[in-house]
Amino acid sequence: KDFRNNVKPNWCPGCGDFSVQAAIQRASANVGLEPEQVAVVSGIGCSGRISGYINSYGLHGIHGRALPIAQGVKMANRDLTVIASGGDGDGFAIGLGHTIHAIRRNIDITYIVMDNQIYGLTKGQTSPRSAAGFKTKSTPEGAIEPALSPMETALTSGATFVAQSFSTDLKELTAIIEAGLNHKGFSLINVFSPCVTYNKINTYDWFKENLTKLSDIEGYDPSNRAKAMATLMEHDSLVTGIIYQNTEQPSYQELVPGYDKDSLVKQDLTLEEGQFQALMKEFM
Ligand code: SF4
Repeated sequence: KDFRNNVKPNWCPGCGDFSVQAAIQRASANVGLEPEQVAVVSGIGCSGRISGYINSYGLHGIHGRALPIAQGVKMANRDLTVIASGGDGDGFAIGLGHTIHAIRRNIDITYIVMDNQIYGLTKGQTSPRSAAGFKTKSTPEGAIEPALSPMETALTSGATFVAQSFSTDLKELTAIIEAGLNHKGFSLINVFSPCVTYNKINTYDWFKENLTKLSDIEGYDPSNRAKAMATLMEHDSLVTGIIYQNTEQPSYQELVPGYDKDSLVKQDLTLEEGQFQALMKEFM
């Protein structure tokens, strides 16, 4: 069960994405998966490279489209555990529509977002997660838009598993990814993963000062959606832990008619002679 491969990540030294990679590898092994049972599908960005750094099936997709690809993989081969991953620009800007629809669909995928609140691969532009006033080359006088809260967006979109973690807290992050992998339905895990090269505001120290662990809030109950939203608003979304989980709602897979037949990849799709032409005639 070794999810490590021999590819050396080319992230900057100190990048938060290293811990996310380690946490995915540990969590996958801890829940009893074998490398050939896992597919990691990523988008574009520094974080998108992660699919090449894990010993599993991997697909480095296109910007903002990790989730459509991951959903296709899951529907074609339900036996695979599918992990989608990418950055905040990838999943919460160009890919936000896919994120919301995958959430409300409750398809059985674990989506891990490495949230560094900036575009790192293109050398430091303001992202939808950058705070108002954030200065970069693309907003030299400071961002005039407020940051998107992915956790609040997920809750209002009907998410059944919403969690957040910090890349230095490998123990908590690994446990949350394990819970996400075990969740029956779509799990969104947002990880504060600092970009040490371009984001000089949201640093490791900044997060240490500003994050609150939900486990430190007495009586916090992740099954209470209203309380989850109130807690996010109270703490400006700067919390870590499982924010909300609904174990009752059926997953997309359980509702798709005929889904209990064999996976597409296991069905014999060979056509008899003339069948293809007959099929084409139907569409002429
Ligand atoms: Fe990580 Fe930022 Fe370097 Fe990209 S540019 S690898 S996000 S530290």
